[in-house]
Amino acid sequence: MTSLPETLHVESRTVHPPAAGVPGSRPLGVPIHQSHLFAFDDPDALAEAFSGPEEAFCYGRLGNPTVRAMESAIADLEGGAGALAAASGMGAINSVLLALLRSGDHVIAQRSLYGGTMATLEDLAARWGVEVTYVAGDSPAEVRAALRPTTRLLYLETISNPTARVADLPALIDAVRGTGVVSVVDNTFATPLLCRPLDHGADVVVHSATKYLSGHGDALAGAAVFASRELHRLVWDHASELGACADPFTAWLTLRGMQTLALRVRRQCDNALALAALLAAHPAVAAVHYPGLPGHPDHELAGRLLTGGSGGVLSFDLHGGRDAGRAFCGAVRLAALAPSLGGVQTLVLHPASTSHRQLTDEQLHAAGISAGTVRLAVGIEHPDDLWTDLAQALQARRPVVPASAQKA
Ligand code: PLP
Repeated sequence: MTSLPETLHVESRTVHPPAAGVPGSRPLGVPIHQSHLFAFDDPDALAEAFSGPEEAFCYGRLGNPTVRAMESAIADLEGGAGALAAASGMGAINSVLLALLRSGDHVIAQRSLYGGTMATLEDLAARWGVEVTYVAGDSPAEVRAALRPTTRLLYLETISNPTARVADLPALIDAVRGTGVVSVVDNTFATPLLCRPLDHGADVVVHSATKYLSGHGDALAGAAVFASRELHRLVWDHASELGACADPFTAWLTLRGMQTLALRVRRQCDNALALAALLAAHPAVAAVHYPGLPGHPDHELAGRLLTGGSGGVLSFDLHGGRDAGRAFCGAVRLAALAPSLGGVQTLVLHPASTSHRQLTDEQLHAAGISAGTVRLAVGIEHPDDLWTDLAQALQARRPVVPASAQKA
């Protein structure tokens, strides 16, 4: 099989993932190898197959050809030495954290992490004696000050939920360089189209492939990508015991979705920017959080770190608080009221009554969220249709706009 040039653009790499094949021909679509057992002629070859993530296939929990094709495709896009596919984003995150941490280890983590990741870290702290220091995530000095002799891991997200804060990955990762701390970055919101954390010094990248990578709301999947084969091997050893592995059909759905990743993400970024600007000018909206807008605190950083767009997720605060947020979400017609993000359809969510409902108003405020915040996970519909829908939903929630907040 001829190998493809290293210089291919990401748009080309997404439709030409590395493929396994035999000399002479190969299927252009990746086959679904719906088998978890593989038979051997040679006992030594079978024994060898148990020993690592790159060996021959022997048992589905250790590896499968379709799953490995997904792993190779994601590793290729992220620029990693290898990848591990998982049954979900949380499967990937838990595989990495449980493989790398032991009791007494210390973790430095961003305060605004995805709720499931926070819950895992809190569980590791409460039940397994792992210590966690939370940092705002915008200051390398704060990360340096948090370092201890026992610090094992730095955990960041490229773009946070739902306020779309961008982490200064090069500076934050640099703060732990040379200390032996493993830096792990959740790149779900950015995708390798906008940012490749390994290029900025990260050791591990994790994804909820449920979101942009698979992209159609039909696959629950995750992945971890490693800068080195050693880290890959270490986490694979544990992951094959944990058993949160991806199944072949999910891997196939993810691979199929990934072929249009570049088109989808570019369109989602364009749609998000257009809607963010329209929302910012609407009298019912108190504030818009989108790094593509000049007023966002990370606008300049997003311009430096993210390539070709600021992502497909934005949030906005409605005048009228909790009732306004809930009413808006109940009034959308084209957009769907649903959790998750990254698919082709536009979704809305009211964090204060759903994903962040456990937080008090003060805690919401500390996380940059208000009771009237709405998260918009933008899809690939025509932007005019999306705006028509959002505008009627803004109208339907009958805004009570304080005179002081009237826009010119
Ligand atoms: N990481 C981020 C940033 C997420 O938004 C999510 C889910 O929303 C996850 C991880 C967990 O992914 P999954 O639901 O596929 O387990």
